[in-house]
Amino acid sequence: MTRLHLIKPSKACWGKPLTPSQRKLLPLLVLQEILLEVVLQDGDVAIGSLALTCRCFNSIVSMESFRREAHFTWLDSVVNWKKFSEDFRNLYRVPYSLSRCFHCETTYKDCGEGYRGRGQRGVMQGFYGSDDFQGYCEHDCFYEAGGSM
Ligand SMILES: [Zn+2]
Repeated sequence: MTRLHLIKPSKACWGKPLTPSQRKLLPLLVLQEILLEVVLQDGDVAIGSLALTCRCFNSIVSMESFRREAHFTWLDSVVNWKKFSEDFRNLYRVPYSLSRCFHCETTYKDCGEGYRGRGQRGVMQGFYGSDDFQGYCEHDCFYEAGGSM
């Protein structure tokens, strides 16, 4: 019997955060996989709510490796890379960075040129061949700051 068998989920448990003793029993890698699935189902917005759930979740979703894996799993779910050349893949199959908007100063997911979405598996906002609003979280901030095309 593995330690995981000690956790007996019941209907009353669904949607409730794990107790500290339950979390200790759940291997970290399994927990990471579950949180990864949550992010892929709900999109990047889930990272924020998971980070606020508890210190344990926060440490997992704050890891660069977790965000990278979530990003590439999402990206691979919206793009059939086999259809494209190696040059194309090298250019656009890249991790995103976190940038601070010049206008509203919020931190946003900066994808630059390439595929954009909210991190929800299989859902894409579009492909952008150029980053017209570089440094801004969205086009509204770009225009409010006095930018024009
Ligand atoms: Zn902004």
